[in-house]
Amino acid sequence: MARVYNFSAGPSMLPESVLKKAASEMLDYQGSGQSVMEMSHRSKVYDAIIKEAEALLREVMNIPDNYKVLFLQGGASSQFAMVAMNLMNKNNKADYVITGQWAKKAYKEAARYGNARVVASSEDKTFTYIPKLEKADFDKDADYVHICMNNTIYGTVYHELPDTGDVDLVADISSCILSEPIDVSKFGVLYAGAQKNMAPAGLTVVIVREDLIGNAMDITPTMFNYQTHADNGSMFNTPPCYTIYMAKLVLEWIKNEIGGLDKMKELNEKKARLLYDFLDSSKMFRGTVVKEDRSLMNVPFVTDSDELNAKFIKEATENGFVNLKGHRTVGGMRASIYNAMPYEGVEKLVEFMKKFEAENS
Ligand SMILES: *Cc1c(COP(=O)(O)O)cnc(C)c1O
Repeated sequence: MARVYNFSAGPSMLPESVLKKAASEMLDYQGSGQSVMEMSHRSKVYDAIIKEAEALLREVMNIPDNYKVLFLQGGASSQFAMVAMNLMNKNNKADYVITGQWAKKAYKEAARYGNARVVASSEDKTFTYIPKLEKADFDKDADYVHICMNNTIYGTVYHELPDTGDVDLVADISSCILSEPIDVSKFGVLYAGAQKNMAPAGLTVVIVREDLIGNAMDITPTMFNYQTHADNGSMFNTPPCYTIYMAKLVLEWIKNEIGGLDKMKELNEKKARLLYDFLDSSKMFRGTVVKEDRSLMNVPFVTDSDELNAKFIKEATENGFVNLKGHRTVGGMRASIYNAMPYEGVEKLVEFMKKFEAENS
């Protein structure tokens, strides 16, 4: 069967060359006589894999030496609590910007452990924009400010970071990690579930500045304390071994085949532009987000009729463009065009949309 173009918000497409490499190493990883799936995480051969994955992530993302990289489980959703438990322990206060469901979930979880405050929200317009904020909007005594950098469901992104003064910025970058360069030094903590842009599900990457480790609340479970994992090289318990290996292959692909994150960004911009330009010119389809906050990764769009949306999704699926149904809170369609979606996939989708528009208007 031919491979489909998968526009899923996550888990999502992986680069074909990565899947082929994984397949070729499935039964015998580099002469070890075993699959990475079967290896002890304490073995020498696996130790080289996890170390290489971390080294590649540091290189590709240009992560400064005073940051720890942690390979955890529990998804980005566990970080909603973990960030609060580890960081909200100086003044027990944190500021949250609500730009979508994930940001809201992060806020709600933090509010269980301390004084979480909503600085601003774009819920008044179904999260179709990023609130513009100034330094004075933030509490200078907050232990951190939390943002969700790319809003997977609604298709918005911070093209510029808010100025939080001396307060550390914490960002959920689940759906934009590795899509473009990011200045890690501007953040206290970055975290991401791997299943959007990095690997299959099962791995959560946390990048945390070292001085923020070691101040967790007393109630923090051992497994939720950054210190536990930082002190043990992400090997306190069994890490998600195979997913880390897959992340390593994806990082090698970005480094060697794409040519790094500057190049990745160029490709992502080219892809997104193609789709947005079509949406802006179409009489049937339109994007749902204000132009200046448009995401490079998730592109929600609608027609004026629910029936037409449903017909489009059905026919698209039949033609090999799958998972285009929008999130239930937005309706319509959403094309997630992460790193591994080839340019050709978006090109063919736009062709298909043009044809659909011509046949149905
Ligand atoms: C997918 C997603 C999450 C949830 O991730 P899990 O790994 O499923 O917990 C959180 N935040 C953002 C921005 C996401 O895209």
